[in-house]
Formats: sequence, C-alpha cells, structure tokens
Amino acid sequence: MHAGLLILGANTAGLSAALEARRRDSRLEITVLEASHAASWSNCDLPYNLGDPQRQAEDLLLRDPAFFAERGIRILFQHRVARLDASARTVEGLRERSHPFSLNYDRLVIASGARPRRLDSLPEGVPALRSIEELRQLKQALARSTRIALIGAGSVALEVVDALAGSGRKILLLEQGARPLSDWPSFVGDAFANALATAGCDYRPRTALREARRTAEGWLLHTSDGDTQRSGALVHCAGILPATDFLPSGVLRQDERGALVVNDEQATSLPGIWAAGDCCCRVLPRGEGLLWNPQALDARRAGRVAGANAAADAGLKTPLPQATMILKALGLEAARCGRFDSPLEMKDGLWSERPPESKVAREGSGLLGAQLPAVSAPSPAGASGRLAWQGNYPLSGHVGDTRRLRLRLEARQDGQLRGGALLCQGEGALRINALVALLGAGLGLQELEALDLAYTPRLGPAVDPLIQAARRLLRELQAGQGNSAGKDTQE
Ligand SMILES: Cc1cc2nc3c(=O)[nH]c(=O)nc-3n(C[C@H](O)[C@H](O)[C@H](O)COP(=O)(O)OP(=O)(O)OC[C@H]3O[C@@H](n4cnc5c(N)ncnc54)[C@H](O)[C@@H]3O)c2cc1C
Repeated sequence: MHAGLLILGANTAGLSAALEARRRDSRLEITVLEASHAASWSNCDLPYNLGDPQRQAEDLLLRDPAFFAERGIRILFQHRVARLDASARTVEGLRERSHPFSLNYDRLVIASGARPRRLDSLPEGVPALRSIEELRQLKQALARSTRIALIGAGSVALEVVDALAGSGRKILLLEQGARPLSDWPSFVGDAFANALATAGCDYRPRTALREARRTAEGWLLHTSDGDTQRSGALVHCAGILPATDFLPSGVLRQDERGALVVNDEQATSLPGIWAAGDCCCRVLPRGEGLLWNPQALDARRAGRVAGANAAADAGLKTPLPQATMILKALGLEAARCGRFDSPLEMKDGLWSERPPESKVAREGSGLLGAQLPAVSAPSPAGASGRLAWQGNYPLSGHVGDTRRLRLRLEARQDGQLRGGALLCQGEGALRINALVALLGAGLGLQELEALDLAYTPRLGPAVDPLIQAARRLLRELQAGQGNSAGKDTQE
C-alpha cells in the first residue's frame, strides 16, 4: 500500500509529470505504473526504426530507468491498471499479466496515452506500432518475410511505407475511405495517394479488411474487393482512441471518444486527479467545443503542468495547442494547424459549408480507416462568416521549377485566422510555424500579410505563399464578398 503521487503511464506525459513533480517537491513519494516492459521511448521514430534493419528496437529508448531511480521516481513495469476507485483513492490491476495489485494514492496523474481502436476484422494483439514490444514483434516478422500489410492510411502508415520504400518489400495498404489522411484537406490526401502508387505500394482505397487469419507463415487477409492476400507482418494503423477504458464510466468527465476533459491546469472533473497527453482533451474558449490533440509536444508540456500542479498546487497552465501537425514522407511534406472541424467544400467554383461534424467515429469495422476529427464538437459561431482560400504557388523562386506548394488558409469574417494547411512537392512545410505563432497570439490576416518572412530563391518565391494567400483573403474581405465563400483560383 502506497500513498503520495501516483502516475499512470511511463512515457511522454507521465514522465514529464514525474520529473516536474520531483523538481517541485524533493521529498514527495512518486510512483509511476507502466503496463509495458519499457519507459521513456520515442514513439515518433518507431516507423523509421522499423524500416532500418541495422537499428535495434532499444535505440528508441531516451532515458534509462536508472535516471528516474536516481531522482527517487519509482517506475513499476508490467503493472497494468484495470480499475480506478476514485472515492477510495485506489487503483487496481495486474502485474505481469496475472498477479493482482492494489495501490493507494493521495494525488493521481493519468497519462495512459492512446490505444488502437478495436476493429471487428482484426484479432486482438495485432501490433499498432505504438510500443517497443510491438516494434520488436514487427521487426522479427519482417526478418522472416518480405511482405507487410498496413490497415488504414493515416500518417503512421505513410511513414512506414516511406521507411520501407526501396527495401524491396511488398507493401499492401488498405484504406476504407476514398483517400489517405482523411482528416486533412482532400488535396493533401490526393497527393499522398499518387505518391503511394509511385513508391510501388499496393495501395487500395475504398477497400476494407474483412478478415485476418493467423497462419504458420504470418497472415491470410480477406479484403472487401474479394481478394485474398498473404502477409508476414500486419500493422493496425486504422486510428486511435484515448486509453481510458479502465476508468469507471460516469465518474470523471469524458468526451464521446473517452478522452478525459481537463482544464488549462490539467485538472479533471474530480479533485485530486489530473490528466495529460493523448488520454485527455481540452475545453476550447467561447464554447467552441473540445480539442483532442494527440501530439508529442503537447503531451510533454501538459505532463509538466500536471506534475507541477499535482505535487505543489503550482497553478501552472498549459497553453492551448494550435493542433499543429507535420508530415514528411514519399517526397512530400504536409503541415496543418488550427480548425478544420467543419470543412468547406468546393462546388461550382465556390466554397460552401458542409454540415458541421458532430459525429465522432467509434469502434467497429464500419469505420476502418476513418480518422477521428481533432475537434469533437462544432463551433456554434463557425457555421457563418468563414473564408477559405486555396492557392497553388511555385515551391521555389527559380524560374522553371515546376514543383508546387499548395496552400489553404482559413479566416473569420473579422480577419482573425482559423487555420491553414499546406502541401509541398519537396521541402517547405515548416513555414506552418509562422501561422502557428499568429494563431497562438490570436492575430489575423493583416498581421500575416505584414510579416517579414524570409526569402531566398532556393526556398520559396519572393513573396511567400502565406503572404500572397493573406492578401487574397484580405481583398475578399475588403470587397465584402466574403460571405462564407472564396474562389479557388491561382496566383
Ligand atoms: C508511430 C507514431 C508516430 C508519431 N509521430 C509523431 C510526430 O511525428 N509528431 C508528434 O507530435 N507526435 C507523434 N506521435 C504522437 C506522440 O508520440 C504522442 O502524442 C505522445 O507520445 C503521447 O504521449 P502520452 O504520454 O500521452 O502517451 P504514450 O507516449 O503513448 O504513453 C502512455 C503510456 O501509458 C502506458 N499505459 C497505457 N495504459 C496503461 C494502463 N492501463 N496501466 C499502466 N500503464 C498504461 C502505456 O504503456 C504507455 O507507456 C506519434 C505516435 C506514434 C505511435
């Protein structure tokens, strides 16, 4: 029986919380419960480690358990929490899969991350490339076989294809939806679909997995197009949900997908319990819904805040993330930030509103390959007065360079930025950070248009596409023609 600070999950958010709690209180008893055999590894590098047979799975470990032990942080490995009793301040679970354990806490930080969505067509235990153990399992399968099958064409699947491209392996990629990256603007998904074909991947859009059966050699896969394929390795890339299924229902406030709703101090709805990382979501200001942002930097920051507040009532606050994402794969770079909860769609040369996305994807085969929207409730104000501009620009300032940069910029009628997405046929997606900075400061098109953005012909046109797009939207606003519509023309 232990009290003190208990943390569930020993990776990005959980260990940030533990280290910050220690900085705030040198005598606090800190225990971290971890379901797996490992702590402190880089999730983001998993696809690239898988693609490199020279690298060991352990190369991904960032900090040794001794590092934490020296700081008086006790990590209990293979301790999977299965039950929380918030009134008794107790967690219970199984150690090494079979031995029951029970621990008390004074204060609790939940940092259990995300888990793969369960699919009817995939048996339990198919790796999702989310842990060192799953990486090892997949590396072993690839050492025996040249064939790999990926279910769901989200960013992790694209990174795996990128990491294995040129290795001579046969890659099957099934996607139930019409294109990869279904929660990004369609021009991004379309470009990656072309790149998958060029990379020699057997990419099958609108194709679901019907059944996966284990065989002596690996897997037998039946697909919705009536085909049967064999594969040595199989990876679940078809979406994630917050790993909160061990929590009692109705006790802590959660959104439809199970994410714990926290405030800017990472406090849950129950005193004494904080949460950080992929297991939780934030309340957006002005009644704009909830934001689930399963990204590494946010998890690290939120963990630090949760640790400080749980250990020392520090009153620290996590800044609201801008839902920034960036992807580099198959010769393309893409990035996005801000709001895309209710995408505008192009029809007859004009952008028009789609009905707001209030439905949240749940588990089951019907949603195979579908991505969850980042924002789980629509903005009541968002349905009116939005402007979107989508432009096509040269990627560099060299005359005759045919590579393009496609940019989508969204703003409100008052000129404030809502978000942006860009796709580069080469490098250049990091310019999203200029938008992120403006969004974070609550600034708008005028400030974007006035930025002194860097220029050299090798890296972009003399007037940066961000500035050109801001000018275009400002013209729309000034002409008073911006009522929820903008034209898709090129500059
Ligand atoms: C392949 C891949 C690529 C990624 N690439 C990027 C990227 O390029 N950029 C980016 O920003 N983000 C990326 N991410 C996302 C990023 O890694 C996560 O947002 C971040 O790691 C979340 O941290 P976390 O601590 O919330 O969860 P995790 O790092 O997943 O840690 C959760 C921990 O909790 C443990 N746990 C879960 N349930 C229990 C339980 N019941 N009992 C005890 N322990 C439990 C888990 O074993 C795990 O160790 C990527 C993720 C993956 C999988």
